Amino acid sequence: MSITAQTVWNNCLEFIKDNIQPQAYKTWFEPIIAVKLTDNALSIQVPSKFFYEWLEEHYVKILKVSLTKELGEKAKLVYIIKMENTYGNKQPFTERIPSSNRSGLKSQDVDIPLNNKNPELRNPFVIPGIRNVKIESQLNPNYSFENFLEGDSNRLARSAGLAVAAKPGGTSFNPLLIFGGVGLGKTHLAHAIGVDIKDKYPEKTVLYISAEKFTQQYIDSVKKNNRNDFIHFYQIIDVLIIDDVQFLTGKTGTQDVFFHIFNHLHQNGKQVILTSDKAPVDMQDIEQRLLSRFKWGLSAELQHPDFETRVSILKNKLYRDGVEMPEDIIDYVAKNIKTNVRELEGAIISLIAQSSFNKKEITIDLARTIVEKFVKNTKREVSIDYIQKVVSDYFQMDIDTLQSKTRKRHIVQARQLAMFFAKKLTKASLASIGSQIGKRDHATVLHACKTVDNLSSTDKQFKKYVEDISKKLSV
Ligand code: ADP
Ligand code: MG
Repeated sequence: MSITAQTVWNNCLEFIKDNIQPQAYKTWFEPIIAVKLTDNALSIQVPSKFFYEWLEEHYVKILKVSLTKELGEKAKLVYIIKMENTYGNKQPFTERIPSSNRSGLKSQDVDIPLNNKNPELRNPFVIPGIRNVKIESQLNPNYSFENFLEGDSNRLARSAGLAVAAKPGGTSFNPLLIFGGVGLGKTHLAHAIGVDIKDKYPEKTVLYISAEKFTQQYIDSVKKNNRNDFIHFYQIIDVLIIDDVQFLTGKTGTQDVFFHIFNHLHQNGKQVILTSDKAPVDMQDIEQRLLSRFKWGLSAELQHPDFETRVSILKNKLYRDGVEMPEDIIDYVAKNIKTNVRELEGAIISLIAQSSFNKKEITIDLARTIVEKFVKNTKREVSIDYIQKVVSDYFQMDIDTLQSKTRKRHIVQARQLAMFFAKKLTKASLASIGSQIGKRDHATVLHACKTVDNLSSTDKQFKKYVEDISKKLSV
């Protein structure tokens, strides 16, 4: 019996394959399983209710033509929806739904178990056991365009975002890829676009998700054997926002599934918004076919904000918090924190907190201490000068002493440690390290590195030096 169903279905597939896009065929027909054939009715099993609706909506004509060719005018089609029970019961259940009248194929009467309401589309955001049909957008309403201040550094990205929000899927900015360094506002802007779209088009399904969470959901879906449901869930989104796509680097499985979802959304005029800490050309280990998709739309960079923009971001933040601050302090903070808006905000928040908790007046001195903490925290390129300073401070000697020709043991050790860390933390050559640390040659530096290695495994006190200095240098 099932062999006959299989043959009929295979013939249908052959016809369908010739008449639709290969990608569509792969997505919508390969997952179907022919289950049985009774009289003129072919039962096919589809992975979800959504899948069934999609087939009815888009492929009913071709299904009808192909099936009529095989089974004659009286052909009937019965869908069997296979999906996992999401309400705690581990057994998968099966529900049959007669093909709708729209299809013009006479439907076969089937029993739908009374206690089984229509199974829902599996939503990876649903906490097991809790029914939740609506897709929550996961947007943060605090990240709006209104408080995303404009400047030369972000004008292109911001305006592209506004254009996309006005006509999601209807501009050539699809996908819109926002890229730039840490703390420059990628996440904020991505949310702002979503929030604005939700505002203008409440009926649209908008979803914000980090690439990391997306990857996790995908891995889970593979484990739970519902990869198809995962894909179908993402394919019904109108506006998909994926944050930090650089996270997909090297994750070929997730890239592959994202590729299919992306194509589907793009083909159907849905909007995709991506953020990344790198420009597409600098993304390594992202599949070429995916990279080329990223380049279809617009890649807009968020650059480091200029001084004026930094000042207006600070003023806006203070204004929203209802705090007043002297102009010169704002200037001081804006002048000294240049490369990261998050740090800019962090410094101003610390300042406010310090002054209100400790009832201290906000002075330039207080600003200086706080800014220093923030600036130190940014990964600064460790220089050989800096290493020498940290090591000599640690041993409470000055740099001249550290570099001197003396053979006093503790000074020699300090110098060797400086050389060791210079080798470890910079790209400088042995010769260059030697010439900067007391005009020594490369052999001396090599010897120093070996000595430090040996001593730290035999001498407890020395090992502690290495650990302490490492900590100081990694700040
Ligand atoms: P990224 O995702 O690029 O690392 P975020 O979007 O998390 O950066 O931004 C860091 C912080 O800086 C957030 O609090 C954000 O609100 C703020 N920010 C960044 N750019 C701006 C801007 N142009 N105007 C106002 N706030 C900004
Ligand atoms: Mg971010």
